[in-house]
This record gives sequence, structure tokens and C-alpha cells, in this order.
Amino acid sequence: MLRAAAAAVTAHTRWVDDFPSPGVRFADLTPVFAHGPAYSAVVAALASAATDAELVAGIDARGFLLGGGMARELGVGVLAVRKAGKLPPPVQKCEYSLEYGTAAIEIPDESPSLRGRRVLVVDDVLATGGTLRATLELLERVGADIVGVTVVTELEALGGRARLESYPLTSLVRL
Ligand code: AMP
Repeated sequence: MLRAAAAAVTAHTRWVDDFPSPGVRFADLTPVFAHGPAYSAVVAALASAATDAELVAGIDARGFLLGGGMARELGVGVLAVRKAGKLPPPVQKCEYSLEYGTAAIEIPDESPSLRGRRVLVVDDVLATGGTLRATLELLERVGADIVGVTVVTELEALGGRARLESYPLTSLVRL
């Protein structure tokens, strides 16, 4: 299952040099998501990383596309981890640095209650690991139990895995 999904990702990823800034090689997964069999294979493979999950947390914005499909696959709910400023208060917030610039993410402070819930986290690309690290920090701050961390594509040279070493990380494609 993982191998077929990886092949689909490799076949459909569009690589864009120097976007959004010089020196960055951007992995555009839009064609992967737009291709029915590829999207289904990816969603099923990522969901299989933690079949005991009670909630899937998808990271803004491409993680939403994956998280919804994975939650449906597992028969559980989905949580959108948002970029700062999108959610009404009260929120829990974490700032972090990106491969290109800085950012902050937020989740609802109280609702839905995450204390003790088994959460599977998903994003499209793992680069430096800052985004996922901040997400995991936020989820653990509100008491969630992280049962899996998943990405479609891992850019190994940027060292994100090392920042997530205490978590079970699944990536379909490593480059
Ligand atoms: P990072 O926090 O450095 O691991 O960056 C991961 C986040 O930024 C993900 O949400 C990705 O969508 C996006 N991102 C960072 N670098 C890239 C890249 N080279 N190609 C595609 N997306 C990227």
C-alpha cells in the first residue's frame, strides 16, 4: 500500500525551483490531490499509519485536504490546525520558523476537547520540521496523545525528522 502510494506521489508531484523564494525547491502536490487514484492511495496509506486514531489533525492548508480524507477513511473526526488569525478566541498559539520566513499556528483552546484523545497529525511536506513541531507542541499542551505523524513528502536534507524524533513519523516519499 505504501509503495503504490509513493509511486503515485512521485509520478504526479510538480517541482518548482525558486518558489516562493530563491533557493527553495517547492514540492507542489496539487496534481497528486487532483488525480483520483493517486489521492485515494495517498489518503489510505497515510491513514494506515495509526488505525487506532480518534481524531485526525490536518495542518493549514494542504493538510486539510489530506486530513479530511484520512478521517473519513478511519471513521473519525478532523481538526483544522489553522494559520494565526483565522479562529475566533480563545485559541492556543505557537510561533515557529519556516524554510522561508516565520509563521504561527493556532487551535481552539477549549473545543473540541483534546485531553487524552489519540490524534493522528498530517501535513503535505516535511521540510525543517518547524510547522509539525509547533503543531505537536500545541496538541500536547492541550493534553492530546499523539499516535502518529504523517507527511506525503519528506525533504531529508532539511533535517525535519531530527526535530520530531520522539514521534512515530511516516513519510511516503523521502528525497
Ligand atoms: P517546515 O515547517 O519547514 O517543515 O515546512 C513545512 C510546511 O511548509 C508545510 O506545510 C509545507 O506545505 C510547506 N513547505 C515548506 N517547504 C516546502 C517545499 N520545499 N515544498 C513544498 N512545501 C513546503
